[in-house]
Amino acid sequence: MQCGAAFNVQSFMALIVHKYGGTSMGSTERIRNVAKRVAKWVRAGHQLVVVPSAMSGETNRLLGLAKEVSPEKPGPDALRELDAIAATGEQVSVGLLALALQAEGMASVSYGGWQVPIKTDSAFTKARIVSIDDTRVRADLAEGKVVIITGFQGIDPDGNVTTLGRGGSDTSAVAVAAAMKADECLIYTDVDGVYTTDPRIVPEARRLSTISFEEMLEMASLGSKVLQIRSVEFAGKYRVPLRVLSSFTPWDIPLDEESRSGTLITFEEDEKMEQAVVSGIAFNRDEAKITVMGVPDKPGIAYQILGPVADANIDIDVIIQNISHDGKTDFSFTVHRNDYAKTLDLLTNTVAPATGAAQVMGDPKICKVSIVGIGMRSHVGVASTMFRTLSEEGINIQMISTSEIKTSVVIDEKYMELAVRALHKAFDLDAA
Ligand code: ASP
Ligand code: MG
Repeated sequence: MQCGAAFNVQSFMALIVHKYGGTSMGSTERIRNVAKRVAKWVRAGHQLVVVPSAMSGETNRLLGLAKEVSPEKPGPDALRELDAIAATGEQVSVGLLALALQAEGMASVSYGGWQVPIKTDSAFTKARIVSIDDTRVRADLAEGKVVIITGFQGIDPDGNVTTLGRGGSDTSAVAVAAAMKADECLIYTDVDGVYTTDPRIVPEARRLSTISFEEMLEMASLGSKVLQIRSVEFAGKYRVPLRVLSSFTPWDIPLDEESRSGTLITFEEDEKMEQAVVSGIAFNRDEAKITVMGVPDKPGIAYQILGPVADANIDIDVIIQNISHDGKTDFSFTVHRNDYAKTLDLLTNTVAPATGAAQVMGDPKICKVSIVGIGMRSHVGVASTMFRTLSEEGINIQMISTSEIKTSVVIDEKYMELAVRALHKAFDLDAA
């Protein structure tokens, strides 16, 4: 089997969605390069829908302006305006790209999310896509036009512009590909694919030519920043063939070479001939640990501790409850570091008095390191290799959590790089 070939580029008139990230759209010169690359695909006989991000730095700039005007934490009314402001970055991108394509001699038309329309719910700054009407887009494609659609944004039932959360253009592209049953969705970005781990930490990290959708989902949720997690969920739900590839290869490389580059996210597990047990190492420095000590070990205690945390809209990740001594137990969990102070405060002032806990302690200087691989389903001893490797490096494990295809440990933040490097080596992921 040809490795990673999801569709045949030679086949006439495939429907392809391209997504270009902010760096790829970062200057007018880069936008002209994007136009040339898109034109190459169209000239080979394919229909193209392109979903670009805002030019790099633009969304931050726009949200920075908003903050200058209104430094307080945004209330419900302000969130609507933040979306109206942030969505303009993509509006500029689509217009510029359509112009650049026209300058290349390609018929092209741009649409904002509201014009397609891409309908979302009303959760400003983190809206979810509800439906996409592709009638207009299909008509344009049939007329031979390249259709450019804004990433990151949509329209709610009341006609308000919404955005999908930072990094949301990935999700827009995958959703468009799903709605149109595209043959493939290509995510052009500033890295050339998905790596076994972050090459900035482990120079020996290798690009994976394929990764299973489930592994990608774990990697994205565990801290790999290549794709927005929602885009991966979408791809899984609608089985959209997805490829992550570089927009920095010369635009004129042969099309079949380009269409095999990067990393293909696959749904067929057996497509991987040589299945590594562990495919990648993910890490995340964004968490903090909270421990509640000496709580009575009785039914309902977990709910009494974590219920108020959930009610305060704080997400909880890893949880451990110890075995009890003299009817008392300790309870630890992690939250996002941004929620650390709030959670500590809530537990100290509200939960501890209510439960009779002896003490509440916290540690924001932790990190989570995870090994991911569908091979873990069929191999034993994978977690023990992880624990042995960490112990050989003298790294203490504070918490452990597992699922079918991943094992995560919480360790002291200062050992993160050492842990990632040692595990990368121990699981034979270093480049030969
Ligand atoms: N421009 C938006 C952001 O910076 C969406 C995206 O690029 O995916 O988050
Ligand atoms: Mg991105």
